Amino acid sequence: MTNAEIIALADRYLFPTYARAPLALVRGAGARVWDADGRAYLDCFSSTVVTNLGHQHPAITRAIETQARLILQVSNLHYSEPQARLAERLVQRSFGDRVFLCNSGAEANEAAIKLARKYGHAEGGGRYEIITVLNSFHGRTLATIAATGQEKVRVGFEPAQQGFRYAAYDDLAAVEATLSPRTIAVMVEPIQGEGGIVTPAPEYFHGLRALCDRHRLLLIFDEIQTGMGRTGTFFAYEQLGITPDVMTLAKGLGNGVPIGAMLAAAPIAGVLDKGSHGSTFGGNALTCAVALAVLDVLGEEGVLAHCRAMGARLRAGLQALAIRHPIIRAVRGRGLLVGAELSELGGPVVERCLARGLIINCTANTVLRITPPLIISAEEIDEALAILDGALTA
Ligand code: PLP
Repeated sequence: MTNAEIIALADRYLFPTYARAPLALVRGAGARVWDADGRAYLDCFSSTVVTNLGHQHPAITRAIETQARLILQVSNLHYSEPQARLAERLVQRSFGDRVFLCNSGAEANEAAIKLARKYGHAEGGGRYEIITVLNSFHGRTLATIAATGQEKVRVGFEPAQQGFRYAAYDDLAAVEATLSPRTIAVMVEPIQGEGGIVTPAPEYFHGLRALCDRHRLLLIFDEIQTGMGRTGTFFAYEQLGITPDVMTLAKGLGNGVPIGAMLAAAPIAGVLDKGSHGSTFGGNALTCAVALAVLDVLGEEGVLAHCRAMGARLRAGLQALAIRHPIIRAVRGRGLLVGAELSELGGPVVERCLARGLIINCTANTVLRITPPLIISAEEIDEALAILDGALTA
């Protein structure tokens, strides 16, 4: 099928819930993808910050093939080795003691929200409220749109799920002012992804940790976008000098197969007991085998150091572009989670990049979100910068 044929078919039968660019991708390799008409693009979006190891990484393809020859789905009423080994590896790699496996970011956050409420009820103090922050993004289910600090995602779906209060981001006093006797947790992204690659200083997170300790609140980190090497360390919290009590993962954990995870430290994790939560596909043998391969590659092949080096190269290149294109007001981010804030809408720039063979994204209206796979080469970073230069000049 051609691009035009696929687009016509999709537009006829799918709910029109997404604003899509007019191309259908059929194949990818490394940082390169091809559309149905055979045109190549440099992928600096990683399919919504998911394919951190690029497309068709041999270790991922091998894990899929090997597991497909064994068994794809094991019921959670039985045990499976990939699931057990993945949970062990995630615990070894993080502050967590227990892992709940699911299928997406929103589900990982749902699990964290349920855990926080169960913890509050188990305490007996009637605490259930979760403070989240403005411009956050936590997913599209009913509970996660209530957690998301953006009114626009809730419009039309009222009544909103109760139990969430919002504070300004990067503002400790705002969180303190939002506390109530019912507060049980504070939930934040270490860097706001959808919110425009907003990177508070570590002191904000030190303050949040201290505040949570003082008021016996759970600190929940949504690392769905920042985790799995994206910011140059396995998890973004490692660069902040604190640990959260609960963390959620998805996106890069499966490098393209749908998997999410919620991790918690020991005394808290104990409250999610038998029968309290579950998922048919959660921790599926195939997705867990792939996530194990992702962890292997991230841990062993110098990917994180490469990500940090390529991130520095990309940000330096964007700073240089900003001198010639004053439309670039600020360059932000860590590792390869990079944003360039413009003084005008970013959508037309993204379109001009696409026309020149580069896929990037615009978020928060004016922020170009540039999130190539962590394995992108220096030459490909330079190629992306050159295309962006042309798009900004046009
Ligand atoms: N949390 C964050 C920080 C995200 O960036 C996203 C997705 O963009 C989600 C949660 C929701 O994840 P999913 O789309 O897999 O449900």
